[in-house]
Amino acid sequence: MATLCTYAATCPVFTTGLGPLPHLGIKYRRAYCRGGWSECARHLLADTVGSDSVPATLLPSQRNQIVEVVAHAVS
Ligand code: SF4
Repeated sequence: MATLCTYAATCPVFTTGLGPLPHLGIKYRRAYCRGGWSECARHLLADTVGSDSVPATLLPSQRNQIVEVVAHAVS
């Protein structure tokens, strides 16, 4: 059985479903929040630098942008 991401209660992708883009919100919640969270860029970044440092605009599929965000957070 799939487990819900530990950040679901506070993550905007899960709580708002991406507002004006509900089809993407459903897609991401299915693919990441309800079981595939170990592959989520937001989850990985929250574990690394804290959930408060995760940009609201970062999408679960944008793992390629994590390095840039971490570099900015530690500079
Ligand atoms: S988008 Fe990522 S961090 Fe947010 S609830 Fe879903 S899996 Fe967790």
